[in-house]
Amino acid sequence: MSLASDTVSELRRLLGETNVLTEKEDLIPYSFDGTAALQELPGCVVFAQTTEQVVAILRLANRKRTPVVTRGSGTGLSGGSLPTPHCLVLCLSKMNRVLELDRANLTLLAEAGATTQTISDAAAAAGLFYPPDPGSMKISTIGGNVAENSGGLRGLKYGVTRNYVMGLEMVLPDGETLWTGNKCVKDVAGYSLRDLFIGSEGTLGIITKVLLKLIPKPAAKKTMIATYAQMDHAAQTVSQIIAEQIIPCTLEFLDRITIQCVEDFARIGLPLDCEALLLMETDGHEAAVAEEALKMQAIALKNGAREVRVAKDETEAAKLATARRSAFSALARVAPTTILEDATVPRSELARMIRFVQAVAKKHHLRIGTFGHMGDGNLHPTFLTDERNTAEMMRVEEAFKEIFEEAIRLGGTITGEHGIGVAKKTFLPKFAGDAQMRVMRELRKALDPNGILNPGKMFD
Ligand SMILES: Cc1cc2nc3c(=O)[nH]c(=O)nc-3n(C[C@H](O)[C@H](O)[C@H](O)COP(=O)(O)OP(=O)(O)OC[C@H]3O[C@@H](n4cnc5c(N)ncnc54)[C@H](O)[C@@H]3O)c2cc1C
Repeated sequence: MSLASDTVSELRRLLGETNVLTEKEDLIPYSFDGTAALQELPGCVVFAQTTEQVVAILRLANRKRTPVVTRGSGTGLSGGSLPTPHCLVLCLSKMNRVLELDRANLTLLAEAGATTQTISDAAAAAGLFYPPDPGSMKISTIGGNVAENSGGLRGLKYGVTRNYVMGLEMVLPDGETLWTGNKCVKDVAGYSLRDLFIGSEGTLGIITKVLLKLIPKPAAKKTMIATYAQMDHAAQTVSQIIAEQIIPCTLEFLDRITIQCVEDFARIGLPLDCEALLLMETDGHEAAVAEEALKMQAIALKNGAREVRVAKDETEAAKLATARRSAFSALARVAPTTILEDATVPRSELARMIRFVQAVAKKHHLRIGTFGHMGDGNLHPTFLTDERNTAEMMRVEEAFKEIFEEAIRLGGTITGEHGIGVAKKTFLPKFAGDAQMRVMRELRKALDPNGILNPGKMFD
């Protein structure tokens, strides 16, 4: 439904005609994100181009009590930027500039709508490195990455988005602007509001600028894949690599269904009769990389790998990495509805969790392809289903429940990187417990007393 006409007129006055969308056919592309089976038309979509415009929009929305759903590129996988009924979608994709690269302090300042790829390229052009690399990085925005605290394929060695955020410009729900953090390597003045806003999923304030830490670019990298007849052997390889005190930058896995879909999609020459594939990458000083790569090959073979393929050059390395980077797209081709999940367990429980997911798939007669960040214990069981099949969707729901309960039982979490949004909000109280839920609700109320930011997300 559209917003009150005086609100729309005021938005047009503030932003200009072309930055306010109200026609149904214009709203449809903003009625969903990357999460399957969720859709809701917003009241209108607006594009801000400056922090001052974000301030003006929020002042208006707060006065009118209009719900605001902030959107980067809409690649989220928990329904975080799914519109709530009659809301205003505030899209930051036009605030996409890199504002400064400071070589003396190794920092980069960007507007929140800059894509992750733009950040990565800007760092690389200066001979530096921005490590977080979510699979969606060509499209996702840095604001979305911060709001979800996104991870990526290099998380095991380099950490997640939070580890690179030094400062944020935030606009609060009443339109007040604040800066939290700075270029100092050390700063313990007051509560770390920066850390509170990271991962807040658009419920506490709007990120308009991000100050990021950059690091020196690793001099060398080696990429290899190992294939296994048994998933347990891949898991043992991961455990032994870590036990030998090697921290590869990438330790990713695919299960049999995913390998078959990837091969069908990308034609990399993967064996179709294996149970598991590990993508392993080590980076750093050339001599250390060469030594670690040899050790990792030996560990893989000792733990039952059928074959280890080492990339001869960058072209082959990119080809092997495609096996993992294209996993979601490859799975998404084979069924009308692809639901990608995000259960995470301590590394030591990974093989057990993968077996559990396979047993759940069998029990509920479902197709689940699993891939993910094996070094982080972060699994993406991906349901290949059809949202029009009501009976099957009920079995999918039941399977979800069992998988998340098992993850919690094994000391894991209900989301390692995709966030709570709408998709996981019913599981959060069980995971977080009463005291954490109360503190989180009170924080939200303190910052957004009128509840205009992303209502219905994270909390039931
Ligand atoms: C193919 C594919 C691969 C993916 N791979 C990964 C992966 O490897 N790792 C990973 O962690 N995720 C991954 N994702 C999920 C998703 O890309 C990330 O969550 C990403 O950070 C979302 O960015 P976005 O700009 O699309 O945000 P959106 O989807 O638009 O928004 C996500 C959330 O952030 C909020 N938000 C967005 N911008 C702002 C802002 N400026 N201020 C305040 N709140 C804001 C929104 O309200 C919403 O709650 C993947 C998704 C896809 C489709």
